Amino acid sequence: MNPMRFCLKEGNSGKSRFEEITVTVAQGPQVRPGVLTIDPYVPGTSQLPGTGPIIKLSSNETPHGSSPKARQAYRQAADKLDRYPDGSSTVLRNAIGARFGLNPDRIVCGCGSDEILHLLSQAYLGPGDEAIFTEHGFLVYRIVTLAAGATPVIAPETNFRADVDAILAKVTPSTRIVFVANPNNPTGTYLGIDEIRRLHGALPSNVLLVLDAAYAEYVKRNDYEAGIELVATTPNTVMTRTFSKIHGLAGARVGWAYCPAEISQMLNRIRGPFNVTGAGMAAAVAALEDRTYESQSVAHNAEWLPWLEQEMKALGLDVTDSVGNFLLIRFPDTPGRRAAEADAFLQSRRIILRRLENYGIPDGLRMTVGLADENRTVVSALKDFVNGAAADA
Ligand SMILES: *Cc1c(COP(=O)(O)O)cnc(C)c1O
Repeated sequence: MNPMRFCLKEGNSGKSRFEEITVTVAQGPQVRPGVLTIDPYVPGTSQLPGTGPIIKLSSNETPHGSSPKARQAYRQAADKLDRYPDGSSTVLRNAIGARFGLNPDRIVCGCGSDEILHLLSQAYLGPGDEAIFTEHGFLVYRIVTLAAGATPVIAPETNFRADVDAILAKVTPSTRIVFVANPNNPTGTYLGIDEIRRLHGALPSNVLLVLDAAYAEYVKRNDYEAGIELVATTPNTVMTRTFSKIHGLAGARVGWAYCPAEISQMLNRIRGPFNVTGAGMAAAVAALEDRTYESQSVAHNAEWLPWLEQEMKALGLDVTDSVGNFLLIRFPDTPGRRAAEADAFLQSRRIILRRLENYGIPDGLRMTVGLADENRTVVSALKDFVNGAAADA
């Protein structure tokens, strides 16, 4: 056994943290060192012991099911399962281009936007390079950075919000990518377009700014933009989007990126030749066309997000100012009232929210906005929890 040491730059202190990892060197394939520093991504819980319906609001999926048109297109695609899909996702890129007024040549589709994030890292990060993201930023940035052999650099947030100056303070000659989820998951907070422009303007031109706009459709703020114009007008900005959230196609795995022409060419060199399934593409095109479904989902969220925020505050719980389809609820550090205890209590009522220890928020639970009844049930359960009711057996 041969202990190896890795340096991970982390946190506010500017100090390096050393981790000892024991690697067997005697025999067998040797994995690249960065891989061993990755904690595998743990998805939100979806099962509970016992029987009966579950209210699962742990993964920011839509509560409405996918559009009937998308489901029909997916089913129809079953007749072509024996054939490879169009490897260029042409029909889908054209549909996205038409919808948003973008050049389809600069759109790259992926098996979820997670794949796009991996592709960007593979293309632009390697050993010795650094990628910056924020303290409570989306966990996938860490995974894709380490998988590429590069070093994650964490910029502190201010009140659970990305802080442009703190990000800029972390830039070094080794910085290659800055990942910003806007809005961010799990905090729900966002940066206005002026702040994003200020960030971009202060980055060296060889640093790629990745704007992950997975929740863009839900945002109802005048100063928010997903980043299309910045991508169109600068050589070093990429915007990623997904069909997993507003379009209700998390199970179909379809995401996309709008890129500078050169970057889209690089991603097309390294991606798998058939990285998006035929059924996924067909469902995504149908979902884009179903504007009624989409606007109903947006309206539902716009109604229930503020209601939930208000109810949580009335229960004495902290909530961040979320603009997504979810809320970050924070619990006091009082025995019997903590987040982990709230989680156990809710699970005893067959309600699943998302624990956030691995996001560095042990006092928080993330709740996806659900259907009206689900939202009311969660609030009334939390009312009982706050009032000291015993958990159900
Ligand atoms: C859910 C989510 C995604 C979407 O990932 P897919 O691979 O497209 O399902 C991307 N970024 C953030 C911040 C998310 O929360």
